[in-house]
Amino acid sequence: VNRSDVHYFGAGPAPLPTAVLEKASQVLLNYKDKGIGLCEISHRSPEANEILADTKQALSTLLDIPDDYDILFLQSGGSGEFSATVYNLVSVWVEKKRAEIANEVGDNKDEVLKRLRKVVDEELKLDYLVTGSWSKKASEEAARLVGSKHVNVALDARKANDGKFGKIPPESEWNLTPRKNGGPAFVYFCDNETVDGVEFPAFPKSLEGEDAPLVCADMSSNFISRKVDVRKYAIIFGGAQKNIGNTGIAIVIIRKSLLPPQSQHASPELLRELNLPVGPIVLDYPTIAKNNSLYNTLPIFDVWVAGQVMAGLVNTYGIKRIGGQEEISNEKARLIYGALDKYPDVYRVVPDKSVRSRMNICFRVHGGDADKEKAFLAGAEKKGLLGLKGHRSVGGIRASNYNAVSLEGAKRLVAYLEEYATA
Ligand code: PLP
Repeated sequence: VNRSDVHYFGAGPAPLPTAVLEKASQVLLNYKDKGIGLCEISHRSPEANEILADTKQALSTLLDIPDDYDILFLQSGGSGEFSATVYNLVSVWVEKKRAEIANEVGDNKDEVLKRLRKVVDEELKLDYLVTGSWSKKASEEAARLVGSKHVNVALDARKANDGKFGKIPPESEWNLTPRKNGGPAFVYFCDNETVDGVEFPAFPKSLEGEDAPLVCADMSSNFISRKVDVRKYAIIFGGAQKNIGNTGIAIVIIRKSLLPPQSQHASPELLRELNLPVGPIVLDYPTIAKNNSLYNTLPIFDVWVAGQVMAGLVNTYGIKRIGGQEEISNEKARLIYGALDKYPDVYRVVPDKSVRSRMNICFRVHGGDADKEKAFLAGAEKKGLLGLKGHRSVGGIRASNYNAVSLEGAKRLVAYLEEYATA
């Protein structure tokens, strides 16, 4: 089977541009005519440093990332960032509170600790908007690390939807920690829920404003697929293996004011005194930032792939930057949803229209009839339309519409949807 005969709609790992893969096969053998491949050279070599700088530059250009943000690369995967965000932002919160108390009571360490214990006990809250499986997992990890008493599930979207994900209730119904007393340590959400096909249509208004909380967003499955106002976020993170590159790295965009010297993080000793977790050093953002993401061995080939994908988008869309990709992503999603909506007796899109993901299009065939869905998938496979099976936890069909799925691929899927529905 030829690569060009197949359109792959899997949810990740996901397709990459063929041109990047062709070049990758060359650089694996011989990078820049050095006689040695990219996976074989030091992550501290000048070549690796150049790749890091170029990749950061391409991402900054694409998303218009301001200078007061840093870009980090880690081997953590998306899930590792569920933990890293908690370790790091709790640490920032604790140190800030400690400094405030020390300012009031002076050098008396026992008194500072006594008051800090009380403040942690009463005020430490991490707000989670749970709109699908991945934000649910992230909230569970937070509860595992700091205790469920400190985790405020400000929204459980299943409650308004018969126990299932698929809607985002109005912001007036969210139960965010009030901003008085400094509000929550952070508010977390998953911008695009890969399993449930739910995407935030826009940045939540209630997280804006002068005393806005620190906002942390998982963009693993819609990274570089639309414009993002980076300034609204404290942290944006995502695994690379869907829209950006191959599996192996996560990318973190972080406001520099959350890193030293502007923000100190709590010492391990203090965190231990407070019964709060001390994170592994490889997830410690100050350490990663100080070392230009080279605290430990970084899979530089993975960074190279991500850099090539991003540079490709910069070249293709010029001054439109990510807006160019956004238009194509929207158009592909519009075509696919259009075909699904045209045949309501055959297809049912799972999430509510207002929050339909442009990236992961989840639907049922004939009300979820198992045999019919199997036949639908088999028919698709015959046409070279692969990876359409829904996540094992929810079943059904899922067409992942990541950047490397071409307009042609989306049109082929639309043709099949039409053909199946009218057969
Ligand atoms: N977040 C989202 C939105 C995801 O879709 C995934 C994986 O599919 C993850 C996090 C977890 O990523 P990883 O498998 O790299 O830990």
